[in-house]
Amino acid sequence: MLIHYRCKHCHTTIADLNHDRLNLEQLGLNHLTTDQRQRMIKYYSPNEADVYVICESCESALYHYPSYHEMDYFIH
Ligand SMILES: [Zn+2]
Repeated sequence: MLIHYRCKHCHTTIADLNHDRLNLEQLGLNHLTTDQRQRMIKYYSPNEADVYVICESCESALYHYPSYHEMDYFIH
């Protein structure tokens, strides 16, 4: 399965994972609610998906400027 980790704020590709036997359950994503999974994971095909997380630079920006939590997009 091919999984692209992308930042949900700046859309940077954080990592690409490609493993024959990798699945989302192994990443711990099965612990999320259905609603969270639908927002975080976008499937292109049964074997390819984007997973939206927060990259380090956005995380530190959010830490310093918590009001950005209310915004979907912002410029670094
Ligand atoms: Zn980011």
